[in-house]
Amino acid sequence: MDYQYWNPEIEKMPRADLQALQLAKLRAAVERALGTSFYRKRFAGAGITSADGVKSLEDLKRVPFTTKQDLRDGFPWDFLGIAREDVVRLHASSGTTGIPTTIYFNRGDLGRWASYVARCIYGTGCTKRDVFQNMISYGLFTGGLGFHAGAEEVGMMVIPSGSGNTTRQFRLMRDFGTTVLHATPSFLLHVESRMKEEGYSLEDFALKRAFAGAEPYSEDTRRRIEDLLHIDVFNSYGLSEMNGPGVAFECQEKNGLHLWEDGYIAEIINPETLENTRDGEPGELVLTILCREATPLFRYRTRDLTGFYTEPCPCGRTHRRLRRITGRSDDMLIINGVNVFPSQIEEVIMAMREVGNNYLIVVEKDGVLDRITVKTEVGPDIFMDDSRPLNALREKIRKTIQASITINPRVELHEHGSLPVSEGKAVRVKDLRPRDV
Ligand code: ADP
Ligand code: ZN
Repeated sequence: MDYQYWNPEIEKMPRADLQALQLAKLRAAVERALGTSFYRKRFAGAGITSADGVKSLEDLKRVPFTTKQDLRDGFPWDFLGIAREDVVRLHASSGTTGIPTTIYFNRGDLGRWASYVARCIYGTGCTKRDVFQNMISYGLFTGGLGFHAGAEEVGMMVIPSGSGNTTRQFRLMRDFGTTVLHATPSFLLHVESRMKEEGYSLEDFALKRAFAGAEPYSEDTRRRIEDLLHIDVFNSYGLSEMNGPGVAFECQEKNGLHLWEDGYIAEIINPETLENTRDGEPGELVLTILCREATPLFRYRTRDLTGFYTEPCPCGRTHRRLRRITGRSDDMLIINGVNVFPSQIEEVIMAMREVGNNYLIVVEKDGVLDRITVKTEVGPDIFMDDSRPLNALREKIRKTIQASITINPRVELHEHGSLPVSEGKAVRVKDLRPRDV
């Protein structure tokens, strides 16, 4: 394969040099963070009063973890590391799991962020000749403006279409010959579902690639989008606390996400014991940001579950690759005492070709027991008035899910394109069980 690198010197840097670079940046970050009221206290508790408290990368482990709750408690200014007049932008998380958290940027931070995103985009094979349609929400959410800036840095023609409004998305895609899309995987599937109805076919478009992220999805979902749209789909990972997109991204190998270790120090911990796991073992991702001055964060617990590949990537990049993120530690459902991740169910149903592009998991109480219902759309060629094949499909889905999660779900089939679609992150689970019981 012909690999292309945005910043070859950094992307292929020998690991010893990369670690030396991390240590130098870490020490500078510690020095700066002493200017925030949160870390001044935190570091004092750990006996760190200057950069000299961190002499090796190992010393980072003396600093306690930072959590989302810390960010909320420190709202709005406790994490600000620069003068307020030097802040040029703020962003906030989507608030999927509670009150959103706020992150500040100075001008240099925005430039660095854009260059990390550009590195991701260029590494998938895009060039300035590409036309990039950014089908994700702009505004406080980092996915819109983050990708926008990175794509402009690569020099692509950017169409800031934002999310939603599929009719207009199709028109833009056709009129300007869009070659690259960015969206959530669920929105990409939704767009494909609507194509025929809106009077288009694939020949009307010049699509080659899509970047899909912001929510967990399985390898089967990736393959489904690739097969339906005849494109390459690359996994994009980021979170607003770490700037947003540009943290980790797949290269042309499409096998694991290179985490940019000149900008972030990554650890994987066991979320129960909080100990670092051994090389390659799965756990929760913990990140320290080295590429942002305005809001330093050390050992931030992302709650995202993943692990590192231990083998080097054939592309020659030395930055380690993350495995596909399976979900957050707090996504886990406990159904009659059994732990179930929504991603386990997604994997099973998205691999079935008769199943459509959308699904929803509903959990309810049925007396003292929990009951799980999986609602799935059927494919476009299946008609809802022919009950025999539907019963067989329902039974097939039920059995396959049961084999995977050991729990017997109810399965409901819905017409193609009839389940609700969200414009931002997909809502895949409705847990209707009463709380605090
Ligand atoms: P919120 O935490 O409120 O959803 P963010 O907008 O910061 O706010 O979302 C970041 C989160 O989105 C990540 O922590 C992760 O859980 C999820 N996410 C982002 N990209 C991916 C991806 N490629 N695969 C799985 N999950 C992802
Ligand atoms: Zn690679």
